[in-house]
Amino acid sequence: MVPTKQAAPLRMPICDVLIVAAGSGTRFGGALPKQYRDLGGRTVLRRAIDAFRSADGIRRVLVAIDPTHRPLYDHATAGLSLAEPVAGRATRQATVLAGLETMAADPPDIVLVHDAARPLVSQGTIGRVIAALDSAPAAIAALPVVDTVKREQDGHIEATVDRRHLWLAQTPQGFAFNLALAAHRAAADAELTDDAAVAERFGLRVALVYGDAANFKITTEDDLLRAAHLVEAPMETRTGLGFDVHRFTAGQAVTLCGVAIPHDRSLEGHSDADVALHALTDALLGAIGAGDIGVHFPPDDMRWRGADSALFLRHAAGLVAARGGRIVNVDVTILCEAPRIGPHRPAMTGRLAAILEIAPDRIGLKATTTEQLGFTGRREGVAAQAIATVRLPS
Ligand code: MG
Repeated sequence: MVPTKQAAPLRMPICDVLIVAAGSGTRFGGALPKQYRDLGGRTVLRRAIDAFRSADGIRRVLVAIDPTHRPLYDHATAGLSLAEPVAGRATRQATVLAGLETMAADPPDIVLVHDAARPLVSQGTIGRVIAALDSAPAAIAALPVVDTVKREQDGHIEATVDRRHLWLAQTPQGFAFNLALAAHRAAADAELTDDAAVAERFGLRVALVYGDAANFKITTEDDLLRAAHLVEAPMETRTGLGFDVHRFTAGQAVTLCGVAIPHDRSLEGHSDADVALHALTDALLGAIGAGDIGVHFPPDDMRWRGADSALFLRHAAGLVAARGGRIVNVDVTILCEAPRIGPHRPAMTGRLAAILEIAPDRIGLKATTTEQLGFTGRREGVAAQAIATVRLPS
């Protein structure tokens, strides 16, 4: 038998992450520090935390915060079971050392240090840093400089710098944990701008791996706006059409667009017979491919007897919102010889704006006679047609 060499059992290194979120964000202006600002429905910090929590091979995420931000932190991390956050210190470097000292109680094999202000870090970047630590004591995400670099003196170019060996450092920056702790302890008196510089000073060779352009640091309002564009879901435009008719019956008022209008007849129907709201409800349902009003509110269901049709329209608007959509505009035309709509138009528009929760200038409302032709011309009933435009995530 040929003896075979036994392979060493593979063990994934234990990897913990320290997210540095202790900055006051003074460059940002405004009361709310940048890491607690909203970015497409989640705070900047929460996005950074979620990125690492969903990455492969991460055991634990620890966050360093300014203790005066505790309520903001608790709100941003609601529903997560994270270790008690570390209190930030006077400088970023001192904060990182405090975080590493905390981790030392149950040390990982490797540690990634990441700035909370880089919320759009990709799984690829995280994976590349971790993978590089297989063969290096330290590795950071970075991007090669692509623009020509000038050195300036008194507002003029002193020299053109050879950019071929220049990279821009990002985070995460990863380290063998024991070496990171030793390097930071040794550098406690130095003032360095990133953790790689601490490692370099300690004599470690630091590998460079590709980060990505979206992993930029949010420093200004413009950065936040740029990040917001990147996380925005692509939207598409949809339209839907609705049409409805109700016949006249004995009565003293008709309800149109949620407004009772005195008249010598009423409209007959299972609900309040608001023909305009029914047409508009169908238009919204049509725009999102959600059937028609009869599917959602069957006419044989006694619950809708005499119902305020605002209920139907609000339901349709709620379905649009539930899909992450919004109503761009609606336009309604009412066809009848009488009653006259004009005097009631402001009230009807206001009612539609209130039900749909959109601005009145996104609402069209018109009325026309049919020149005494057809059933509306013979005053047998009222017809309404409507169109709705919505924006939906595609
Ligand atoms: Mg109807």
